[in-house]
Amino acid sequence: KIPAIGSPARTQAILNRYRLNAKKSLGQNFLNDLGVLKEIVQVADISTADDVIEIGPGIGALTEQIAQSAHEVMAFEIDENLLPILDETLSPYDNIKVINQDFLQANLPKLIKENFDGQHRLKVVANLPYYVTKPILMDILKGNVNFDATVLMMQKEVAERISAKPGNRDYGALTVITQYLENVEIAINVSAQSFIPSPKVDSSVVKLTPKQKRNVVAYDEKAFFGFAHGCFMHRRKTLWNNLQGIFGKQPAVKVQIKADLKKLNINQSDRPEQLSVDQFVEMANQFHASGL
Ligand code: SAM
Repeated sequence: KIPAIGSPARTQAILNRYRLNAKKSLGQNFLNDLGVLKEIVQVADISTADDVIEIGPGIGALTEQIAQSAHEVMAFEIDENLLPILDETLSPYDNIKVINQDFLQANLPKLIKENFDGQHRLKVVANLPYYVTKPILMDILKGNVNFDATVLMMQKEVAERISAKPGNRDYGALTVITQYLENVEIAINVSAQSFIPSPKVDSSVVKLTPKQKRNVVAYDEKAFFGFAHGCFMHRRKTLWNNLQGIFGKQPAVKVQIKADLKKLNINQSDRPEQLSVDQFVEMANQFHASGL
């Protein structure tokens, strides 16, 4: 029996055989730690009830582990040099489709319709290329596809930002937007030694599951995201300063902002990072209602 793709010996043999040099510019750090690979699949709770989208299969280490548990896998790989390798390494599996496309350019709804039967849960699992962590995260969050779970290996620093609590220095617009949409959990911390080549930063696996119930609902999601960004434009300044940056400094505007904040019991001298996600939504809705 051939050892798993992600076992250190097999990974090394594949890299040697194809004389493959990992491309830094494409964020190629291959996982060669079977323990971590299996843990990712466990965190994602993959079963034959799931169709899974993978971003960046690389040489197929994670893809193989997912395919052994999932119904079907669709994997987006931007690097065409990896296609012949994936062809070979994943040949034992008949439930994997590799698509040679930039995930950020892919027409996901269309591809999902073409490749999945719509009778299974939909999940995203990836060991992300770190140079595009944030665009990919935003793409998944804002996209027109609803995923039942998203499990992503990313830089620990980004994982800490999206899971931060109010008052934490990592708490920012990305935190507010992500936590408005999803429950965020850091599931595994992974050392750089679990990859070949080792990345320069520590990594974490984050699990996102859609929020089923919200205390307050934004009147318009896109506008709310823009509002959240505006509130953190100058994170060392007060909420009051940032709100004037968004709405202007005209006397009538200032009076309205003050009245709205009072109504919501929010202190204008607070710093943006002190406010809860619900408070950001309440503000966005209130300012919209009062015509700001
Ligand atoms: N899944 C493999 C593993 O865990 O060993 C490889 C992960 S490696 C960190 C990231 C992979 O994403 C690389 O194979 C890289 O070529 C691919 N990639 C980079 N940018 C991409 C993009 N925009 N769309 C799809 N794949 C991308």
